[in-house]
Amino acid sequence: MNFTVLTIFPEMFQLFRAHGIIKRAIERNKISVSTINIRDFAEGRHQVTDDRPYGGGCGMVMKPEPLAGAIRSAKKKSPDSITIHLTPQGRVFNQKVAQQFALYDGLILVCGRYEGIDERICQDFIDDEISIGDYVLTGGELASMVLIDAVARLIPGVLGGVDSAEKDSFSDDLLEHAQYTRPGTFEDKNVPEVLLSGNHKKIEEWKLETSLIRTFLKRKDLLKNRLLTEQEIEILKKWCLDIEKIIHSQPLRSTNALSGSQ
Ligand code: SAM
Repeated sequence: MNFTVLTIFPEMFQLFRAHGIIKRAIERNKISVSTINIRDFAEGRHQVTDDRPYGGGCGMVMKPEPLAGAIRSAKKKSPDSITIHLTPQGRVFNQKVAQQFALYDGLILVCGRYEGIDERICQDFIDDEISIGDYVLTGGELASMVLIDAVARLIPGVLGGVDSAEKDSFSDDLLEHAQYTRPGTFEDKNVPEVLLSGNHKKIEEWKLETSLIRTFLKRKDLLKNRLLTEQEIEILKKWCLDIEKIIHSQPLRSTNALSGSQ
């Protein structure tokens, strides 16, 4: 997968490329992360990339000619890529969108600055518009890094374990189960016994159950999209029964009895 980032601040990507899984994936030729400086396609001695907005208003707008030149150059180098504009007005990025992007040969990422880019570029040069959330950044570079990071780890061979990405949160509308590491006891708190039991069947059941509990408590909305397995339905029914038992074991209290006891 070739990621090509179009930016006026290419230096921002030097550190991004130099660490962790992204660095290793580049070294192993699983991905490439290159930058094109939009300024290189700007005319004149000062190579200006922005200008005042037509119709007035505050701030500056990125000029269309340098952007068009940079996108054409990127397309020439990576013709099978799609061109994505990072913008707060785009569809909101999530794991499913990352999974779709991971299927492409290449992504060209256009980073805006100032008040954004000239609308004619959005209309004629862009295949998709992506926002990383409902807030406004000063530029598209951080948004590009978020997108690259999330997509790269879905590319086969980028992560160490064969199935690490498949079991991550959101991959199947479930949050990942709780994680523990050594020591077994930390400040009087023990690792759940089942994880030390060596019983793989029980461990898998525990993982599924904590995964369901966490999703139910933290992101109930995800469960609504999930096609539950029989085993998951059984787990949910068991909780319902447990909760019912707790409720039924409570002594019945009338409102009067409660107020009388105060
Ligand atoms: N005036 C624009 C608007 O209100 O839609 C916001 C421009 S923003 C200050 C400058 C640049 O940051 C944008 O062109 C875009 O590339 C990037 N950006 C800001 N917020 C973003 C977000 N949530 N997701 C993706 N890119 C974002």
